[in-house]
Amino acid sequence: MQVYQGLSASPGLVMGPIYRIDHGNAGLGRVVELPVREQALFDAAVILAKGELHQMEEIAEGDEKEILMFQRVMLDDPGFNREIREYIAAGAGSAAAVERAAAIYAQRIAEVPDEYISQRGTDVLDACRRVVDILDGRPRTPVRPETPSILVGECIYPSDIIAVGKGMILGLAAAEGSVQSHAAIIARTMGLPTVVHLGSQFLNEGPIRQGILDADNSCLILDPDRQAIQQAQRRIVSGAMLKKRLAALSDKPCITCDGTAVGLWANCSTPEDIELAIKNGADGVGLLRSEFMIVDGHIPGEEQQYYFYVSCLRAAQGRRVTVRTFDIGADKSVQGISEDSPNPALGMRGIRQCLVTTQIFLDQLCALLRAAVKGRMRVMFPMITCTYDWDLAMEMVEKAKTLLRERGVPFAEDLEFGSMVEVPSAALLADEILDSGCKFFSIGTNDLTQYTYAADRMDGRFTGYFTGTSDAVHKLIDLTVAAARRHNAEVCICGLSAEDPERAVRYARQGVQNLSMTPASLLTVKARLLEADLDEKADDERMERDF
Ligand code: PEP
Ligand code: MG
Repeated sequence: MQVYQGLSASPGLVMGPIYRIDHGNAGLGRVVELPVREQALFDAAVILAKGELHQMEEIAEGDEKEILMFQRVMLDDPGFNREIREYIAAGAGSAAAVERAAAIYAQRIAEVPDEYISQRGTDVLDACRRVVDILDGRPRTPVRPETPSILVGECIYPSDIIAVGKGMILGLAAAEGSVQSHAAIIARTMGLPTVVHLGSQFLNEGPIRQGILDADNSCLILDPDRQAIQQAQRRIVSGAMLKKRLAALSDKPCITCDGTAVGLWANCSTPEDIELAIKNGADGVGLLRSEFMIVDGHIPGEEQQYYFYVSCLRAAQGRRVTVRTFDIGADKSVQGISEDSPNPALGMRGIRQCLVTTQIFLDQLCALLRAAVKGRMRVMFPMITCTYDWDLAMEMVEKAKTLLRERGVPFAEDLEFGSMVEVPSAALLADEILDSGCKFFSIGTNDLTQYTYAADRMDGRFTGYFTGTSDAVHKLIDLTVAAARRHNAEVCICGLSAEDPERAVRYARQGVQNLSMTPASLLTVKARLLEADLDEKADDERMERDF
């Protein structure tokens, strides 16, 4: 038995046969024809590859659809095609040219200082691999497990998961990869336990028949012994029972033992996420990260955004949707908009960026004001630091309203605007911001922790500040809640910390009315809150009694 440790990209525990994905190393050994013929072969292969991607797109949904579309569009990229033409003209075979260009392109994308965009490198390799397979007459073994299996490989591509389909995949384990990769995003959405970054060693173990993928403990166990199997079986059974018990809570209102109602909201970025959140009993959407629409560099116009927001409202089925205006910058830089900055987290980011790219901001505000007629919506601004930011943002709202009036387009005159609290100054100036007309607060503990402790949220070495007690952040939350009480305004917490059941209880004790989190975490947090007494002493006594 061998145990390998990695990074958990999607939780869960599964046991079953191991299926090795071999992406092979094609394209380099074929006899090279004349450049003109190699170019023709390449052009034909691209047409076939795009056709395949289009077919898969038709049946895919949400993130999967978007990824397949990105891959198809990428194959038309003029710069990429020019690079391949040049290699072929210089005497390279078409498949080798594609592999070479793919590696260079993927490397360039991976160097973009934005985690989301840098993950697109995998998509480039995935799309090119499809072209190379076609050029080489598909020498690669297709990924087709005969029984539901744990798929393992050097790297898992989005198309591996999409092509095999959920029913045949128990879980995923990869030597490389990161938690933010597209394959990981799809695995999380599909509820597939996934461990990445395991190192290549486990792939050199010879033929392996069985494995236990324990993504809750970030490990993969190969050829487990009897004891490990029995332990895993027990945990799988109790996990299934827990899931069933939790599912029964989805319609139950979240009221603590002492009778306090806590709103459980979801963090989403697409209508599909919202549908999943509603299934898990979400009271509404606490954070719609609108910038996820544009991180690939394509900025949708007012009309396109209008339909997107209306789709989100429809998916929420009458529940409230809180849209955050574009939070571009720092780790979410967008090509063509974001500027280079020596210190991006302190530079042109969030509302500051919106206030300099005014046309983009006005388009978004017009789309939001119009869509708000169709359902329960409210809007908040990212990275507000003081009333100066707030007033400038609201001036833009007035401008958008004037534009819509001039155009004679109906819009929600009374749409409520609120502010994220992600910077200590916003918590310290909470009263002043509310006095200026802010109607609600949403505390982003990810950034609030980063800026309070001067700890880069992208640097894994500082995780302790985010998962630890964070006393300084709790003091800032107290200040925000107290100011909101004085103004009769609501407070929500939408940072990752709200998903931690013990933190959730603590936040409720601090007087936070709503918590917003990934849809998959809603029921676990609800289960903890239902048995919590917000009077800490009574809670301790009850826990002791129950124990
Ligand atoms: C936060 O900062 O806590 C937050 C929710 O915003 P984001 O993670 O999108 O920066
Ligand atoms: Mg933030």
